[in-house]
Amino acid sequence: MTAHIIARRDAASAAWFDGLTEGLLLIRRCDACGHHCRPDAEACTACESRDLRWAETMGTARVVAAVSTPGEAGTATIQALVELAEGPWMHAPVLGASSAPPPGTALVLTILRPDHGEPFPAFTVPA
Ligand SMILES: [Zn+2]
Repeated sequence: MTAHIIARRDAASAAWFDGLTEGLLLIRRCDACGHHCRPDAEACTACESRDLRWAETMGTARVVAAVSTPGEAGTATIQALVELAEGPWMHAPVLGASSAPPPGTALVLTILRPDHGEPFPAFTVPA
């Protein structure tokens, strides 16, 4: 079975999806203290400032935890909680791995561009 995810934008996520369309994974950076926050943060998780702006990520991450769900013909769907190089954690699929990668595994961003809906981030284990 293949998971079909249809991502839809709204006013709060438009800039984030525009970034993905341009090949960038954006997060929020605090103007007051420089802390990086999740894309959906409305206030800084370090200092509670609401002066957040969009910032590009390097597109690298490490696995915090991952689960593998067996699929058809030996395939597997892998979902992971990842820690971006900038610090925020997010959930994302891991592509091209046959089993759940262990915690600490280095990952590289890839952006999925489905036929329907908005692009969304996924990660791969570099060769
Ligand atoms: Zn802050």
